Formats: sequence, structure tokens, C-alpha cells
Amino acid sequence: MSVFSHPAYDGHEKVIYGHDAETGLEAIIAIHNTNLGPACGGCRMWAYGSEEEALTDVLRLARGMTYKSALANLKLGGGKSVIIGDPKRDKNAKLMRAMGRLVDSLGGSYIVAEDVGTTEEDMDAIALETRYVAGTSNGFGNPSPYTAYGVYLGIRAAVQHWLKRNAGDLEKIKVAIQGLGQVGYPLARYLHEDGAELFVSDISDEAMQKAADEFGAKPVPAAEVYDAPVDVFAPCAMGAVINDLTVARLQACIVAGSANNQLAEDRHGLELARRGVLYAPDYVINAGGVIEVAFGAEGTKEEITRHVEGIGPTLLEIFARADADKKPTNEIADRLAEERFLAA
Ligand code: NAD
Repeated sequence: MSVFSHPAYDGHEKVIYGHDAETGLEAIIAIHNTNLGPACGGCRMWAYGSEEEALTDVLRLARGMTYKSALANLKLGGGKSVIIGDPKRDKNAKLMRAMGRLVDSLGGSYIVAEDVGTTEEDMDAIALETRYVAGTSNGFGNPSPYTAYGVYLGIRAAVQHWLKRNAGDLEKIKVAIQGLGQVGYPLARYLHEDGAELFVSDISDEAMQKAADEFGAKPVPAAEVYDAPVDVFAPCAMGAVINDLTVARLQACIVAGSANNQLAEDRHGLELARRGVLYAPDYVINAGGVIEVAFGAEGTKEEITRHVEGIGPTLLEIFARADADKKPTNEIADRLAEERFLAA
């Protein structure tokens, strides 16, 4: 399988394949760019259908981390790792230690963290073999509260810019939150406290009922959330929710939420812009979690919070440039990130 001619290859600095005979580990680590600092990104364990699928995933995810860290003003580059296997069936501490040795062999140019299919316990096992790991149990806490705070600040910036409200004014702004999980629920609390009117959607009736009781939110069936009569649509569940089927249904004039890869394809960013919808690029607005990881165990709550508060001004800069250049915000965000890491 070729790497250099792979469609997802984007000048990645390093792509290494690791195998451990004793544990059966099969892993790939991709380092996209280290101009701003060591590559940081999660380790995903997934039962990939093929090696090709795993390679595509790791190349795309590693590139995304470079852009995310650059726009979060972190001294980190972008990287990612994948372990091929079913986490429920194939994962054990020995396998994770073998992964730790693979990470260690890169001498600190890649720092591993949790991702889909890996946990804090796995990072503890990795830490027995390498110090280039974030998110162990003696490190720091759950990143979701910082992600939620960053998304809340991003919504405020978007409302200020697009609806010409005073900074921080969300009174009676209608927001539909898709997904009331670790990010969506605390986000609902922030918005409610600022006087926003909430519409909430989740596959769990219990979560919607809780938000209805606590915040007076209006539950919306999952399939109807795109049609909700709101100002802001906040996707906080899964990716690719802005696609050919949903884009024309949106009533909102702002899309701003935590989900990764919200646009099914880049062209949907242009489609939103054409329809007069302001899109807060996902990797900019949802950077609160990676900011916490970057600070590590030494970071204080105040320091991390202050850094997360940079998300609003970064978004305002992107929105202003998008207006001036008449380009979609996702394109401007990519360009701004490239200016930062290519110039470094
Ligand atoms: P979570 O698993 O805690 O919550 C997701 C919620 O979405 C759950 O309540 C689930 O029931 C609901 N859901 C699933 N399918 C749905 C559907 N079709 N319609 C409505 N609701 C649905 O996840 P999370 O940690 O809150 O993360 C949410 C999103 O934000 C994910 O895309 C994640 O990748 C992204 N993200 C999270 C963080 C973080 O710090 N947690 C950081 C960056 C990005």
C-alpha cells in the first residue's frame, strides 16, 4: 500500500507502522507537522475493515490536529495513532504497553492521548513505557467541561458577529442543541443562564427530559432538529450532520457546536455561506479539550480557562476575514492555521 500517493497524504513528516509479535499489536502513527511543537493527538482503537481504512483515518486525523493546535495557539504539532483491532475483544494492558514502546521509539516527537476506543486506564499502561503520554489518571481531569465552555464562548462570538448583538448578549436567542452528552449538557446550562431559549434533541428521552426540567428546554425528536425554528444550531453529537440532505432544512443562521467533522464535505461550508449561515469551524470552537491536554497536569484551572477564552477572539478574526474575502469560514480557518504552522 502506498503512502506518498495516498489521497489523504498531505506531506506528513512521518508515518510509522508498528507490530509486536507477543501481543499482536498492529498500529500506525502519523505525524503530520511538528513546526509548532511535538505532534499531539489521540490513539484510536477501532476494528478497521482494512489496513487501507486505518491508514486513511490516521492520515486525516493527524492533519486535523495540526490545524486545531495551530488555531488554539498551542505549541504543538499534529499527529495521531491508530491500533487496528476491536477494543472490546483485543485490548489488554500488555498490548497498550507495546503501544507505549512504539510511541517511545519516536523520542517525544509524538505525544499520545485518549481517543475513541482508548481510556485513561490505557494511557496509564502506556505511561509504564513512555513519558510521552497525556491524560493518565494522575494527570488532569475530563476535558469536556473546557470543551463546553469554549463552545459557549464561540456561540457568543458568532451571535455578536452575525446577529449584531452586544458582546455576551444571548437573551432570547434560540439555540437547538443536538446531543446532550458531556459537552451538550453543560453547554445547555451556560446558554440557559444567559437567557437563551433552548431546543434540545437526543436519542435519550431521559436526557431531553432532564434538560426540559432543568432549563425549560423544548425537546425535539432527533430527526426534526434541523427544522427547529432557531437562530443557532449546535451539533454536539456526531459528525457529517451538515450534508446535502440537511443543509437546505436548517432554519438557523448560525451553526456552532462541538461535534468533530460537522461538514460532510468542505463544499458544505460554501453551501452554508451561500445560504447566509455563519459556520463556526468545528476544530476552532471545540478546542477546549486539546487546550487542557496541552497544559497537562501542571496547568491550573485559571490558566486553562484563560487560554480557552482565546477561542472567541480567534473566531471573530475568522469571521471578519471571511466577510472581507467573501470566502467560507472553514476555508479561512484552514488558511489562518496554515499561515501559523507553515511560518513557524
Ligand atoms: P457524548 O458521547 O458524551 O455525548 C453525545 C450525545 O449525543 C449523547 O447524549 C448521545 O445520546 C447523543 N446522540 C447520539 N446520536 C444522536 C442523534 N442522532 N441525535 C441526537 N443526539 C444524539 O459525547 P461528547 O463528549 O459530549 O462529545 C460530543 C461531540 O463533540 C462528539 O462529536 C465529540 O467527538 C466532539 N468533541 C468532544 C470533545 C470533548 O471534550 N468531549 C472535544 C472535542 C470534540
